[in-house]
Amino acid sequence: MRLVNDKLFRERPDGAVRLIGGYCAGCERVHFPQGDTCPYCSLSECTESELGPRATLWLFTSVLRPPPGYRGQVPFGFGIVELEQGLRVVTRLTEPDLAKLHRGMTMKLVISPLHTAEDGERVTTYAFAPEPTV
Ligand SMILES: [Zn+2]
Repeated sequence: MRLVNDKLFRERPDGAVRLIGGYCAGCERVHFPQGDTCPYCSLSECTESELGPRATLWLFTSVLRPPPGYRGQVPFGFGIVELEQGLRVVTRLTEPDLAKLHRGMTMKLVISPLHTAEDGERVTTYAFAPEPTV
């Protein structure tokens, strides 16, 4: 299994998935993806901060045709979620059926298959999945 970008997310040994963000001690805000320089106050001493796994769905759509260079399956969900840490991120969604998505629903960060590389290896990325309701 290969990650599409190993600087964006990680799977802990216990299977928990987290986005790799940055935390700025100067303004006490988090950002994603991680960067040494704070995008809000320009302080250059940010540290790593794991983000997720829960989020609230804000906006969503279903991508029906493959974007240029995209080798994965369509349709796929795409949208904006607000992480429990208060940060909104643009993300892939595991659910492409708009009837099964609604604004304000709880989503969970997961690792999702993206495509199979030329060498046959499966490439994965992060995505948000609807949290099963009890
Ligand atoms: Zn800052």
